[in-house]
Amino acid sequence: MLEARSSNDDEPRTTNKKTKYIMELQLELEELECTRRRDNEPYIIAGPCSAESEEQVMETAVRLKAMGITVYRAGVWKPRTRPGSFEGMGSKALPWLKKVKKELGMKIAIEVAQPSHVFEALKYDIDIFWIGARTTVNPFFIQDLADALKGLENPIFVKNPVNPDLSLWIGAIERLNRAGVKKLAAIHRGFSYFGTTKYRNVPQWEIPIDLHRYLPDLPIFTDPSHIAGRRDLLQEICQEAMDLNFDGLFIESHINPDVALSDKAQQVTPDGLKELLDSLIIRDAEVHDSRVMRDLKRMRKQIDMLDDELMEVLEKRMTIAKEIGRHKKANNITIFQDVRWNEIVGKRLTQAQEKDLSEEFIDKVFRAIHTESIKKQNKIMNEK
Ligand code: PEP
Ligand code: MN
Repeated sequence: MLEARSSNDDEPRTTNKKTKYIMELQLELEELECTRRRDNEPYIIAGPCSAESEEQVMETAVRLKAMGITVYRAGVWKPRTRPGSFEGMGSKALPWLKKVKKELGMKIAIEVAQPSHVFEALKYDIDIFWIGARTTVNPFFIQDLADALKGLENPIFVKNPVNPDLSLWIGAIERLNRAGVKKLAAIHRGFSYFGTTKYRNVPQWEIPIDLHRYLPDLPIFTDPSHIAGRRDLLQEICQEAMDLNFDGLFIESHINPDVALSDKAQQVTPDGLKELLDSLIIRDAEVHDSRVMRDLKRMRKQIDMLDDELMEVLEKRMTIAKEIGRHKKANNITIFQDVRWNEIVGKRLTQAQEKDLSEEFIDKVFRAIHTESIKKQNKIMNEK
């Protein structure tokens, strides 16, 4: 059963088989107009954050085409968090993109956020639409778009919502599919986070992984640009996406990023993009060699045995926690005692370093165990 982290509405928190909407999808990546430079490489969609001028659009496209990329992305209407920044060139940019399509034979992808964007774009033969993170959050916007896209054959790529809410992401995909859109794919662009983080948007890879478990056939692209926020961090995100076996990369590339009107820190030149793509190590998703398979099975067996032990230990630990709960209840002592909690965390974090386990990981594990203990003790305290 899949935990689909849901927003605070009255939808079920859990997306199980009963609530699962059966999608009718047409998911061959080639049908989504996507290509790769060579076999054993991810599908690529690349282009500038924004279409800024005819020259910038054309020069970037020429260079990307020359390196084997056939799908060109460019923002025409830019949703910006704060007013006053560059909001895109609007309809004026559409003829420039049509020219790229006509002269270079590339497929064109743009972001649409409202029905008028779709209708304008169709006048210029735009091939692919993507829905941005700030639009996916709102079911009203998505429904309006779904109604506008009804009956069209264009592939639609749906970015994750800005907040880490899998249900909202799935909901948007379902709304489009119910309107008859069959050529669907998802784009993982990370999630906004209050506070300082290494990346502009935290990847929370477990969310696109859950999406894949829920909709195994839906292609998922990674947008390393909006996750990383900085071009020096793009490579590691792309490599991670490849190691997690996602299908493609949706990446920003600008002929001269330093003068870009939006997202300049994260855009990479076409040459930089080529270097990045050439550096990726693409590993086999399936095991063909029987010896490799045998060794893998042996190691997995060991992991399974260790997991069995972990479960036993957790069970034992919780049994003792419950015993402590009864003891505290009998003696009228509070459940949470911060001296004890600090002692547990302090000790395990020191040990973490010795054992080459990250502090972040051990902190999470012990917090989860502690929360579960408190829950169990709370139940005992409140039993009549
Ligand atoms: C974009 O792709 O340029 C964009 C605005 O992305 P997001 O919706 O992920 O912020
Ligand atoms: Mn951008």
